[in-house]
Amino acid sequence: MARSIYFFGAGQADGDARQKDLLGGKGAGLAEMTRLGIPVPPGFTITTEVCNAYYAAGKVLPAGVEDEIKAAIGRLESLLDARLGSPDAPLLVSVRSGARASMPGMMDTILNLGLNDEIARGLARRTGSERFALDAYRRFILAYADIVLGVPRERFEDALGRARRQAAARLGVDATLLNAAELERKVPDSLLDPESLAALIQQQKDIVLDATGRPFPEDPYAQLQGAICAVFGSWNNHRAQVYRKMHDIPEAWGTACNIQAMVFGNLGDDSGTGVAFTRDPSTGERRFFGEWLPNAQGEDVVAGVRTPHPLSRSASGSDDDERSLEARMPGAYAELVEVQARLERHFRDMQDLEFTIQQNKLFLLQCRTGKRTGRAAVRIAVEMAKEGLISREEAILRVDPGAIDQLLHPSIDPGAPKKVLARGLPASPGAATGQVVFSADEAERRAGQGKAVILVRSETSPEDIHGMKAARGILTSRGGMTSHAAVVARGMGKSCVAGCSAISVSQGQMTVSLYDDHGHASGTLTVKAGDLITLDGSTGTVYLGAVPTVPATLSGEFGELMVWADAVRRLRVRSNADTPHDARTARNFGAEGIGLCRTEHMFFDEERIEAVREMILAPDEAGRRRALAKLLPFQRGDFVGVFREMAGLPVTIRLLDPPLHEFLPQDEAQLEQLSRTMGVSKRDLERKNEELAEYNPMLGHRGCRLAITSPEIYEMQARAILEAACEVAAAGVEVEPEIMIPLSMTRRELAITRALVERVAEQVFAEKGRRVDYRFGTMIELPRASIMAGELAEEAEFFSFGTNDLTQTTLGISRDDAGRFLGAYVESGVFAKDPFQSLDVPGVGALVEMGRDRGRAARPGLKLGICGEHGGDPSSIAFFERAGLDYVSCSPFRVPIARLAAAQAALSAGSSKGPRATD
Ligand code: PEP
Ligand code: MG
Repeated sequence: MARSIYFFGAGQADGDARQKDLLGGKGAGLAEMTRLGIPVPPGFTITTEVCNAYYAAGKVLPAGVEDEIKAAIGRLESLLDARLGSPDAPLLVSVRSGARASMPGMMDTILNLGLNDEIARGLARRTGSERFALDAYRRFILAYADIVLGVPRERFEDALGRARRQAAARLGVDATLLNAAELERKVPDSLLDPESLAALIQQQKDIVLDATGRPFPEDPYAQLQGAICAVFGSWNNHRAQVYRKMHDIPEAWGTACNIQAMVFGNLGDDSGTGVAFTRDPSTGERRFFGEWLPNAQGEDVVAGVRTPHPLSRSASGSDDDERSLEARMPGAYAELVEVQARLERHFRDMQDLEFTIQQNKLFLLQCRTGKRTGRAAVRIAVEMAKEGLISREEAILRVDPGAIDQLLHPSIDPGAPKKVLARGLPASPGAATGQVVFSADEAERRAGQGKAVILVRSETSPEDIHGMKAARGILTSRGGMTSHAAVVARGMGKSCVAGCSAISVSQGQMTVSLYDDHGHASGTLTVKAGDLITLDGSTGTVYLGAVPTVPATLSGEFGELMVWADAVRRLRVRSNADTPHDARTARNFGAEGIGLCRTEHMFFDEERIEAVREMILAPDEAGRRRALAKLLPFQRGDFVGVFREMAGLPVTIRLLDPPLHEFLPQDEAQLEQLSRTMGVSKRDLERKNEELAEYNPMLGHRGCRLAITSPEIYEMQARAILEAACEVAAAGVEVEPEIMIPLSMTRRELAITRALVERVAEQVFAEKGRRVDYRFGTMIELPRASIMAGELAEEAEFFSFGTNDLTQTTLGISRDDAGRFLGAYVESGVFAKDPFQSLDVPGVGALVEMGRDRGRAARPGLKLGICGEHGGDPSSIAFFERAGLDYVSCSPFRVPIARLAAAQAALSAGSSKGPRATD
């Protein structure tokens, strides 16, 4: 291992912004800011390599690191003229985690480290404030006991409550009916007097002794070592693990640990602390945005106990917010504005900053690329490209295709009747309806039963992460735009309304204070677990009941980004769509054709299913043909609708694929009904049902195998497609039908079905007196189809890889049953990701490449597409680009994601300047 520690301070730093892997995002940002001459309290970063070595050695710091830490502390001491452990000139430090990717609130932080009784007295003398020194000390004991010594916070709550109640009595506040949260609001830390604090500190130490059997550690070096190990240890706490899994952060990265001289935002009214974003993280608007609290320390803003104030005078809508930092500390505010602009220019991206003002002097404590909603990501990328800060290519690469999913989802229908329950902060955009739940566990449980839930809390904490993940939306009564709930919800792309002070949550219900149009209190309403509410995270409004929503549209910056993406991508993007309605949605989202129209979905319609069943159960070919004749006009009508919607674009229609028994009547009533219409006894029908049952239908009588035994089904479908094509062409609409055979694996299967289609085509063209061009092709869904692709290409003019079935048949894992155990496979590292969502490149990908090579060798220019679920998955799309396919096809709502992912893939593969694939 190279060096373990990177120092920063007084304008110089050992590391820089490029070393995120080694120093973590926070450490790299602190080093870079120091280099830029921005005021940063000095300190040092212990590398992520040390964290990994700590784990490798069984949770002990590697040899030599402790000496390096001592040396770095020595450097810090001489720089600041203070000493760790000295009562006369005490050095206090913060110890904070910081991984390569930001994981807000997931790991641990300890502030005010370096205090004991004697040093606290020294600090009181030095700062002239006994109250301040004792408050810092009692906060330190609490955090250290919880994080390092493992004494649960709850054990300290009674003692703190007692101290608050004593203070309340002294201040004449009636505290008898207040719960802990209300009491904290009425009697904040700043109102606890030195005597109560001293008593509280003693009680906290007694609790530590009782819980651990040892006194609270007095030696600052012992404290420091404990804190460093705890920060490394927090890399593997439960919530960090859940977060890593959700965001695909590898365990092997480890966290760095930052030790930094403390500055204090709670030294009086000329001090404060806050967080800021260089642009609005919710909307992406270019405005300096953030929150602060006067006379407060570090985590107070994010903890959401006190509702923070805006930074700028005009931020809250009125032009003169007297609580703003701009109004209260104009000098520090002006410097902060200048620093944030510099940092954004330097890093060429939106930054998330933490700052503290100690007695009017500004310090930056953190600077990192800010988390943002999908909407904000798009706006920021496009505007930065227009401002000339980044190139268009960079703008395309900046937006995570997965994150734009949020933009494609519905928003509240402005015209729908609705009852406003309350208003809070618009913390994370999007509409969400669900049943109210009051705990993360309950959210997870109900979501597991398929229910949509809204998690309602006073304030979320990192322990709630699993519930937030399970919920559709999150509502909190406290906390600001940078509270835990807001930050995490934005990262997850979930709707969130935060700081909704009209609600109060306790004992399994939420009480909402109602106001009339003039803002006067007009009573209360109780919402219980299971009641439906709707959140509009874009406006911060909470509605009672379910409110209708309207679909998303691609306009503004999003539309522009898509145009830029389209200009660089090579892959074409089609959509899987079975109905004219889906086809229209897909086209609106920019689909360049239909890559898969699954005709079986058309069979389930109430009017048709009877005829389908009749066809399946008919005793002979004549009976089957009679039933198919009933289906023909329906199918033709479907195809006319789809061709019209996709005028001028290719439409790939797959002939019937699933095993026939899927269409059979399942219950008594359906059987009786069918027996009446067909004039066949119920017993006979049941017998036929049994005859068709298969042990393994996925590998049974399905796909083109149906056409070998009952060619009349495909004949009817081919006729419906070609008649529809002639009809639409006759109306002057350009049609491009592609007829696709599922589940083939031999040349002979394709030769038979192709002859069938050609025969029907000639009949239809003769009857209609016109010809339309069509293509004949096949899906590649079986390993044998890839292996024999050379022969299949003799018959097929195009291949479409059905990677759902190809994954199933290559891995030998049933796509219907995999859910039960694939989670464990991913967890134990057998697969990095679920292979049904993200293509198994080494395995299934190799078969795609084999199919491509053998197919194109037999038929140069053979058109190649993919229509399995992987067609909408960004990392799979990157592979399809490298593999040189012509198009991907995905569900309508994923089309924009695929367009962006295809552009990114082309930029990464260097193929963006090449010709566009053929359609
Ligand atoms: C596939 O197998 O990938 C495919 C697209 O077909 P289906 O999902 O209908 O089996
Ligand atoms: Mg399939």
